[in-house]
Amino acid sequence: MRWDISKMNTWKAEEFPRGAMIPQAGNSCDYVTGGWRSDRPWRNVETCTNCLICWIFCPDSAIAVQDEKLADEWVNLDHCKGCGICANECPVEAITMVPEGCDISEVK
Ligand code: SF4
Ligand code: SF4
Repeated sequence: MRWDISKMNTWKAEEFPRGAMIPQAGNSCDYVTGGWRSDRPWRNVETCTNCLICWIFCPDSAIAVQDEKLADEWVNLDHCKGCGICANECPVEAITMVPEGCDISEVK
């Protein structure tokens, strides 16, 4: 379906088509927002210094910390959407974005 938007500049609020709705604040953890990810982060534990910068920068709070280090299951793939910010911000390049479904041994 295509919307006729030729008169959009004169629309009143009730004329705009409804989009997604957020019924209450803080409900993002109820949804599997990682389902649309095409790449996932892979961490090299040998070069990671546990500085936690990736944890600070992740916009989805998908990175887990335990005892002041990244947890063994460090990324929650239900909520990681594969944006690559963690890989971009890691100061020692310990994170590599890899395509979903790839053989991880090819990355190492
Ligand atoms: S930013 Fe890099 S070095 Fe720091 S905790 Fe994350 S993966 Fe490890
Ligand atoms: S790829 Fe994006 S969403 Fe996933 S852990 Fe890294 S910063 Fe968070």
